[in-house]
Formats: sequence, C-alpha cells, structure tokens
Amino acid sequence: MEISSLQSWFPDFGNYPFIIAGPCSAESEEQVLEVASYLKSKGKVSLMRAGIWKPRTRPGTFNGHGIRALKWLESVKEEYGLRVAVEVASPKHLEACLKHGVDVVWLGARTVSNPFSVEEISEALRGVDIPVMIKNPLSPDIDLWQGAVERVYAVGIRRIAAVHRGFSPFERTLYRNMPKWEIPIELRQRINNLPVICDPSHISGRSDFVHEISQKALDLTMSGLMIEVHPDPAKALSDSAQQLNFRQFGDLLESLVIRKSTIDDSGIRNQLSELRNQIDSIDYQLIELLANRMRISGKMGEYKFRNNLSVLQMERWLEILRTRTEQGTLLNLEASFIERVLTLLHQESIRIQTGISNNMNDANDHWSEEQ
Ligand code: PEP
Ligand code: MN
Repeated sequence: MEISSLQSWFPDFGNYPFIIAGPCSAESEEQVLEVASYLKSKGKVSLMRAGIWKPRTRPGTFNGHGIRALKWLESVKEEYGLRVAVEVASPKHLEACLKHGVDVVWLGARTVSNPFSVEEISEALRGVDIPVMIKNPLSPDIDLWQGAVERVYAVGIRRIAAVHRGFSPFERTLYRNMPKWEIPIELRQRINNLPVICDPSHISGRSDFVHEISQKALDLTMSGLMIEVHPDPAKALSDSAQQLNFRQFGDLLESLVIRKSTIDDSGIRNQLSELRNQIDSIDYQLIELLANRMRISGKMGEYKFRNNLSVLQMERWLEILRTRTEQGTLLNLEASFIERVLTLLHQESIRIQTGISNNMNDANDHWSEEQ
C-alpha cells in the first residue's frame, strides 16, 4: 500500500526532537499531577504518556487503573495544559480515550504483534481524527510493523508515528530488548515521511542505559524520544528498573547532543549514511554473536578436557563446513566466502579450547605437586 499523505501532528511536532515523557502507568491522581507539574516546568516535553491498561506478561501483577485513571489525565490537561497519550489495546479502550479527551493514542508492542487486534482497533478509528503511534511488534518482523501502519492509514488516519521499543531477545542480552536499529531505519526508508520515535526506556530495561540509547537514537536522527519518568521509580508499580526520576530525566535532557540531521534541504535522507547506520547495527550484533559463540567454545574446551577428548574433531569440523556452506548458498553467499569465515572462527575456537586445556593441565600439575 502506498502511504503518501502523512500529515504532521501538532504545530510543535517539528521541534526536534519531539519529547514524550511520563510514567509507565498512571498510579494515582497525585502521581500523574506531580509528573505533569514537573514536565511542564521542563518546557521541552510536548506530550505526556501514561499507561492506563497495562499488558502484563504474568497474571496477578498490577494491570492499570483503567477508566478511572482517564479522569486524572483530564485534570493534567486542565491544570497544566499538557497533551496526554495513552496505550489502547481494544476498540473499547479507544472509545473511552476519545470520550475523555485523550490527545494521542498508541498501539503497544503486544497489540501490534497480532494483526486481528490491529484490524479491530483500526476499524474503530475510522472517521476519527487523532494522532496514532504504532510501536514495533515484539519480534523483529518489519512487515508486521509496516502492516500495522498500513492498516491504521487505510482507515483514514493521517497523523501517524512509529515507535521503536526494541525486540524481545531469545536469550539474556545487555538490554531488555534488542535495538536492531537496522529495522526502524528500514521502516522509514519503506514509508517516506513516517516519523520514527525511539522508546529508550523499553529498549534499556534499566535506567542507567537510557542515556546511551537516547543519544544513539538522536545520532540516527530518530524524530523523537518516549521516556518513562516516575517521581519515585523504586516504588513504581510497573517497569520500576527502567523509569527515570525527575533529576535523572532533567540531566538527560540537558546532556543529549543533537547532531546535524541526515535530512538534506530537499527533505531527503542521506541514503549512504542510512545504509551505513544499518551496517553498523548489524556488525554490532555480529560481534555479540561471535562473543556468544566463543563463550560456548570455552565451555566445550572444558568438557573435552574433563572427558579426555581431543580439541580438534575432524568429522565435526567437516559437518560444520558442509551445513553452513549449504545454508550460505541458499542465502546467496559465495561458498568460498563462507569457508573462509568459518575457517577463521574454527581457528579461534581451537585457540580458546587449547588455552583452556593448557590452563587446566597446569592447574592439575600444580595440584599434584602439592600432594
Ligand atoms: C509501555 O509503553 O509501558 C509498554 C507496555 O510498552 P510496550 O508495548 O513497548 O511493551
Ligand atoms: Mn512500561
């Protein structure tokens, strides 16, 4: 689907970067008003976020105050003149938000993962004029993300932004969610003029990573940031480790460096730097994978030593070479290239395993000398 007539949101949407901030969840009227008062005093925040219905991974945890919290957000608007944004996961949520004057709604990562839900909410948006933010789905499936943007566009919504909140990792990683920056970069290549806002809080999972992710997002000229801010994060009812307190948020806004945009005078992004950014992100992930592979090599070295097996096992190496070359060929990679890469990996793995068995030998000798 051709998405050709996206519109800018609010007059200040062009302020770069567009800052959205607020608590993960609206926890009480006092809490949202306290945050609103602080955000208003900072002056740089264009939109306040607050979760009302919380999609929780496990049952029995705090799942939001629901409709009564919408009244608290009405007070935020009345007392501080701040615009408010809320996550909606069903047509009912949307209806309640519209009734209570919510300015912007967003679809969360879990909702976007399910095209049925996106379709239902989109139908409920038909004929409504409200800006909609669309988070990336949990899995790094760019088509699913693009599809959600298209479904919302198809019912007539023209003020749309995507929100990059990272992708669920299959194993423990440094960050709570893998950034995989190449994906939001590709999304904005696929949909011209689509603003992509970064949510460093959900990528980080920890407040001390929020600064580096925010800076990275600005370096990649993302259109804005959505940051979780709480008066007392340690007591937060959801996402407590990743929310910033007021001082941390204030320091963050002061310290972010806004670099020259890659958008030239005619509004076109510099293609070469976009491609370089994608390569950088993929290399970063390759290196993480290499480190994981070598860590496992080390464990194999220990196992082989304990079980008196030789480090080099010829049939295993030949099998690795054959299966990886077959896979590479299917993905249009030259067999000789795969072979060279694998040979390097294998050499390094042998070096690590040999080092481990030498160390263990030394330790054993030392131990027997002491007997
Ligand atoms: C949130 O914004 O608090 C949230 C639940 O985010 P996500 O949908 O990205 O997990
Ligand atoms: Mn959250």
